[in-house]
Amino acid sequence: MNRLSIITTVLVMCSQASSISLTHVGRHNSALEERGPVTAEVADSQSFFDNNLKTQSPARDWNSRVDALLKQMTLEEKVGQMTQLEIGMICNGKDQSIQIDPGKLEKAVVKYGVGSILNVKDEALPIDRWHEIISRIQEAGQKTRLKIPVLYGIDTIHGVNYTQGSTLFPQEIGMAATWNPELMKRAAEIAAMETRASGIPWNFSPVLDIGRQPLWPRFYETFGEDPYLAKVMAVATVRGYEGSNISAKDKVAACLKHYVGYSFPLSGKDRSPAWIPEIYLREYFLPTFQAAIAAGAHTVMVNSGEVNGVPVHANRYILTDLLRNELGFRGMVVSDWEDIKKLVTQHGIAATEKDATRIAVMAGIDMSMVPSDYSFSDNLIALVKEGGVPLSRIDEGVRRILQLKFELGLFEAAMPDPNLKANLGTPASRAVSLQAARESITLLKNAKNLLPLGKGIKVLVTGPTADSQISLNNGWTYTWQGTKAELYPKDRPTILGAIEAKIGKQNVNYVPGASLDREINIAEAAAAARNADVAIICLGEGGYAETPGNIDDLALNECQLKLAEAITATGKPSVLVLAEGRPRVFGRIADALSAVVMAYNPSLEGGQAIADVLFGDHNPSGKLPFTYPRYPDALLSYDHKIWEAGDTSFGYTALKPQFEFGSGLSYTTFEYTNLNLDKRTMNQSGEVNVTVTITNTGNRAGKEVVQLYVRDVVASITPPGKRLRRFAKFNLEAGQTRTLSFKLRSTDLSFIGANNKPIVEPGDFEVMIGNLKQKFTLQ
Ligand code: BGC
Repeated sequence: MNRLSIITTVLVMCSQASSISLTHVGRHNSALEERGPVTAEVADSQSFFDNNLKTQSPARDWNSRVDALLKQMTLEEKVGQMTQLEIGMICNGKDQSIQIDPGKLEKAVVKYGVGSILNVKDEALPIDRWHEIISRIQEAGQKTRLKIPVLYGIDTIHGVNYTQGSTLFPQEIGMAATWNPELMKRAAEIAAMETRASGIPWNFSPVLDIGRQPLWPRFYETFGEDPYLAKVMAVATVRGYEGSNISAKDKVAACLKHYVGYSFPLSGKDRSPAWIPEIYLREYFLPTFQAAIAAGAHTVMVNSGEVNGVPVHANRYILTDLLRNELGFRGMVVSDWEDIKKLVTQHGIAATEKDATRIAVMAGIDMSMVPSDYSFSDNLIALVKEGGVPLSRIDEGVRRILQLKFELGLFEAAMPDPNLKANLGTPASRAVSLQAARESITLLKNAKNLLPLGKGIKVLVTGPTADSQISLNNGWTYTWQGTKAELYPKDRPTILGAIEAKIGKQNVNYVPGASLDREINIAEAAAAARNADVAIICLGEGGYAETPGNIDDLALNECQLKLAEAITATGKPSVLVLAEGRPRVFGRIADALSAVVMAYNPSLEGGQAIADVLFGDHNPSGKLPFTYPRYPDALLSYDHKIWEAGDTSFGYTALKPQFEFGSGLSYTTFEYTNLNLDKRTMNQSGEVNVTVTITNTGNRAGKEVVQLYVRDVVASITPPGKRLRRFAKFNLEAGQTRTLSFKLRSTDLSFIGANNKPIVEPGDFEVMIGNLKQKFTLQ
């Protein structure tokens, strides 16, 4: 970048970031350029996808260095490399008073030669503490016979949530709602930069599980229900984390998780059995992993649960035949937390931990996230000595681990670089987070164009998520569960704070009404609504992660519904704002509300972003990345079979979700015209060019997400009513018109057939964009 373009970029960033208070002014010693909000548009999701698959660097041959090292290693040293422990195994104390224990550190790194350490205990640390801790760990690594650096891994789930002062982004479900893979890529670049700046080179992200089971407490960690949108976002994220060289000072190794089938438990409870026939495993749950592997991702973490009765940690078909032989994955596979033990304690497929270790390693686990004792090392050494696990399998796993350490540049520079600290939490990065929060917010209902609200009005703000940073962020925020309010930065407004800042405190009456699960003063809130021009009802969820987030009922808590009912009963126009990690059902109150704004978990800038949308300083462009159910027991994804939604025989009500996948309103209007195909018949090796014209027919600029769906009219496997095959996101000024073009190939028409293999069947296909439809025939 030359001087002039640096100045221009900084000016653009400053103007875009001007509405947030800039706390970090001067930056010194920054090794890297600042990158602010994303202006690049996505005119065709597939070109973005294809280009980002291509930009990975050609694989380098590390064999000679790996071989040379491997030859010198003892069995104990090799098994040490395959062992991953949690930070508590080398520290005393917890939270901010965590201290390295020299004896414990020596035992782990020098005596057992452990290859990797992970996590926090239990709070996010200041960056200086990270540098200190990682330095001590690497110094211990240097004391080992072969001086092999230790690989530290962390859950950078929505930004570096375990380093204080970092930039946090909307959770993945919100990033999916932006339908903006350029923005996802930029967010991932920043997350990678800040993770490396913290001295950590390995990130347990992205979650590539498909969100089709809304009860599942990790729903918010997914890119939603559609495999195509999720796989474009997957490639954006991997490319953002890894770039084309993971040894760079602003890159990390990605970890695709949780391979595969974790997100679809039959009961909806975390880590409970999934029943997924292979045909659907391949159709819906595999494509994200496949795409991210093709994008060059370096590591994979395994699903803790079982699929079709076989725990994935014990499934050689999934971990070796499918992952290695079919998808061509060359990187390293890590277990999830304690999951080899759980083969005994939970799944009951092995009688002893030793046997579980044999099964898991032989299935394809290269590294075990043990993580709180030395059982894995002891068992595996014994297994090799007894002949239960061949040394060749150990060498294979260790090779992958060493290669990763070489590729990350750890043999050259394992110590944290103090110069990188300045990359943490910069104003430019924060501006990207604000952009992401704004672009994620999805306007689902806007009766009589109540929104945007005028700034000269009096509002009631009520509800449990109105004044909560926790609800805006959810889990993986400063702690695993994200529930320690005192750890959140004081200078980021909640929804309430941002509304007060926007229209003046004197115009805002705040009455909580209810907590997440308890009535407080509903009658008082209703009385206050009568004295306001508009009521803003903020409902949803608090913080949770993994199993603690299990629920028995998808409906919003009764006290929250009662609060909304009391407010709407006053007849005052009411806006519902939802801050939640999964679609909690509110069908009972939906019709009485004037407007509904879905905010997901928009993170630290979410309060401001929501206020910007409510009062018209930002025109919303988010679109639902999942189907929002109307009833807790009527759950279907958008790509269901046609007849499933339409059957009204026998008094059965046609299925009607509260809000459709892909829906989301704007403060302007877009008109779609001229959907054209350049041919009516296509052969298997050909392509059809689809064009469509979009006009902004309203009176303000806005971004639109154009969605192209295809319906296979007749197929040997019951065809879904439609499947998303392309999308675009771009800005149109008022009155502006634009024609887009998308190329469809026969691979876009394929599906998994009865023999579990992709198949393309000739016949008629419908292309749908907006309310337009055209047909062509595949020969
Ligand atoms: C989660 C993983 C996470 C790991 C390390 C597990 O409980 O399932 O997603 O990466 O912990 O924190």
